[in-house]
Amino acid sequence: MKLTQQKTTVQNLMGMPCQDLEQYFSVIREKPFRATQVMKWTHQQGITDYEHMTNLSKSLRDWLSENAQMQLPEMLSEEVSTDGTRKWLLRVDNKNAVETVYIPEDDRATLCVSSQVGCVLDCTFCATARQGFAGNLSSAQIIAQLWFAEHRLRKQLNKTRVISNVVFMGMGEPLANFDNVVKAIQIMMDDNAYGLGKRKVTVSTSGLVPKIDKLREALDVSLAVSLHAPNDEVRNQLVPLNRRYPISELISACHRFLEDKHRKHSITFEYVMLDQVNDQPEHAKQLVKVIQALPSKVNLIPFNSFPNSGYQRSSDKAIEKFRDILQAAGITTITRRPRGEDIAAACGQLAGDIQDQAKRKRHYEKLYEADLLKHKVEVACA
Ligand code: SF4
Repeated sequence: MKLTQQKTTVQNLMGMPCQDLEQYFSVIREKPFRATQVMKWTHQQGITDYEHMTNLSKSLRDWLSENAQMQLPEMLSEEVSTDGTRKWLLRVDNKNAVETVYIPEDDRATLCVSSQVGCVLDCTFCATARQGFAGNLSSAQIIAQLWFAEHRLRKQLNKTRVISNVVFMGMGEPLANFDNVVKAIQIMMDDNAYGLGKRKVTVSTSGLVPKIDKLREALDVSLAVSLHAPNDEVRNQLVPLNRRYPISELISACHRFLEDKHRKHSITFEYVMLDQVNDQPEHAKQLVKVIQALPSKVNLIPFNSFPNSGYQRSSDKAIEKFRDILQAAGITTITRRPRGEDIAAACGQLAGDIQDQAKRKRHYEKLYEADLLKHKVEVACA
């Protein structure tokens, strides 16, 4: 092996699924099994310093140390809710930071990851939408959120394994960053990395119809659809993407997604409950008609308010009535218990107090003064 003679561009191995790593090692004339060795060290053991990957030859370790990166996010802040939910602000490069949320429950521990910095889709009830869009995350920046949470919590909670589920419900529309999201999921599901089962990874989309078809071909994962309305008139108002891909097209794509007989999933429909907007009994009845033919369940999400949102949370009574109508029609319906509300980590709240730009600016200035930001971080929402 003459590694020193090989010329490659410096690459970040953190975001490479096994196949890409094998290709990488073949270019430097190394055996393909180096890929699984590096994946195990990185993702299972949490070791990112090549020098400590002791089953690699010394010459390979030295070469990787000089020629390959293993970039990790820098934690800018950590907030812990009274219910155990944790929200981290993670700097992913010298310009951007994203929020990642850990949600512990009795029987599972879910990590809600971001796929983009901000979002272009402009859903009118969503805090992330208000911060605009600064770009896609790379596969490395996506998987690094799981790496960070898993290995930090293992140490803190003294456990050998922590995260059992991942949902792409953080900042951004995951299907608008398709290739990077797919690569990150391949790593999540790889037994040499996190070994998450297909029902343990959920991609949530607001309805990018062509990409739902593409996802069906690429991966066997769970799909959640942010529906939020039972008819086009209301959905056009809440989810502007609906004007491009109306409900009928979206539901057809959901049917196609489940067509493969090996796919045993159902679709989860997310439905944010907004007072007087989409929470009336006639909306529930319309919703039954729209989704009844699909194997599906519905998550009703009491709206998590943020400054100047323009919406109010539906009353408990309205949510209960809505749920009863769906359940009477045989549709499994769960009212999602708000988590992490006190730290603005609840669904739709990521980017938290962005409307209060002065407050947010102060927050970053404080971090900057504390030298937590070595470079000026231009967070998209600041
Ligand atoms: S709800 Fe999702 S898709 Fe819509 S603006 Fe917010 S992050 Fe983007």
